[in-house]
Amino acid sequence: MAHTLLTPGVLPTRTKTRKGTYFVQTWGCQMNEEDSEQIALGLQGLGLTPALSPREAHVVVLNTCSVRKKPEDKAFSFLGFLREVKQARPDMVVGVAGCMAQLRAEEIRKRNPFVDFVVGTAHVHAIPGLVEQALQERRFQRRLELPERKGAVVTDVPQRHLERQGKLKAFVPIQYGCDKFCTFCIVPTTRGRERSRPTEHILQEVRRLAELGAKEVTLLGQTVNSYGKNLAEGNVPFAKLLRLLAGVPGIERIRYTSPYPRDFRADLVETIRDVPQVMEHCHMPLQAGHDDLLRRMKRLYTVESYAQIVQSLREAVPELGLTTDVIVGFPGETDDEFQATLDAIERFQFDGAYMFKYSPRPGTPAATLPQVDPQVADDRLQKLIQTQTAVTLRRNQACVGRTFEVLVEGPSPKNPGLFQGYSRCFRMLHFPAKPAWTGGLVPVKATASHLWGLSGEPA
Ligand code: SF4
Repeated sequence: MAHTLLTPGVLPTRTKTRKGTYFVQTWGCQMNEEDSEQIALGLQGLGLTPALSPREAHVVVLNTCSVRKKPEDKAFSFLGFLREVKQARPDMVVGVAGCMAQLRAEEIRKRNPFVDFVVGTAHVHAIPGLVEQALQERRFQRRLELPERKGAVVTDVPQRHLERQGKLKAFVPIQYGCDKFCTFCIVPTTRGRERSRPTEHILQEVRRLAELGAKEVTLLGQTVNSYGKNLAEGNVPFAKLLRLLAGVPGIERIRYTSPYPRDFRADLVETIRDVPQVMEHCHMPLQAGHDDLLRRMKRLYTVESYAQIVQSLREAVPELGLTTDVIVGFPGETDDEFQATLDAIERFQFDGAYMFKYSPRPGTPAATLPQVDPQVADDRLQKLIQTQTAVTLRRNQACVGRTFEVLVEGPSPKNPGLFQGYSRCFRMLHFPAKPAWTGGLVPVKATASHLWGLSGEPA
């Protein structure tokens, strides 16, 4: 499919002291959350401040997701709401960004002519320039465009605002796009081919985050462990990047999501085992528990090769937290294939899983295959959730009595009077603490287990 893409860097952010407010609405993955933070930083660079709701904001940006149909429906319905707001307040600027904007720009414009600009995934940094242009010109019904290059493939690494806000935990994209082309997935189309950020740029960003008070960074990439190919400085294996980042003063914990099973190398297992800053957690998507399903999904591994990685990880790091993604109702999924997925859940004893019903994405090979009956897919999803829930409860129960190192994040919004934080194996703990402990690493003994995690006492 031909991409219609835009040239980055044509409308640089200008620093202004403009009065007004912005609201960024986000759907989708952590990569989108991170892009939204970049959008917000860019808008703050114009002098805009955050609004409490889109109804009152002067600038509203939708950062959309196309990975399933549901977030796309939500974005269109949000645009319907904004259409009414804009009728009452025509000076409001509305922009649409993200994967759906990349994929369905013309449709978004046609259905919502009031939208001021639509930009794809590689052009987050151009948004402040477009907003500035709209605010200056006050020609709100005019379609703002970046110069287009028809048929181009996204190869540029998006620019980033380095001046991040001070916070305890931060996401850091290290890789954009994907080369794997799983038959169900729209990401290679919406985010383009795999590109790694230069190692020095990542180090620079993480050093700055540490100076601003970050203790934990989560490295983001669609297949994060294939980081480092074809960089100008030569190949930099993902394990080497982890070791370099572990040397940044102030960074106490490093996580990453999501590794791709076929690209899981022995040096990564050793790095998780040997480098204290690298957390003992791995979110490794399995997607399905039958080789025929994996083949039809064009996942480039088998259940047995996945099992070998799990075995080497658990031998090297017995306290590892292992989580995964699973899809049910993939086209042609038989009862036996689904049963194999349930068996895999029992076999691998995941600590948790994101479980989804397959959602056909127009433009992907799997969308053209005969689909599973929606009721059958719903029933399978419920069975899968039940199976994984039982495993998670058992795994959490087995943690009672153990002591975990927890990064104290602050008061728990759900459990008043208690504080919360994550263990190194990525279990949420709630426990009594002093406000002064926030930001510190504290040993907490688990005293009770729940589906969401553990309750505990400072040890
Ligand atoms: S590895 Fe597959 S599922 Fe993951 S982003 Fe790439 S194409 Fe999509």
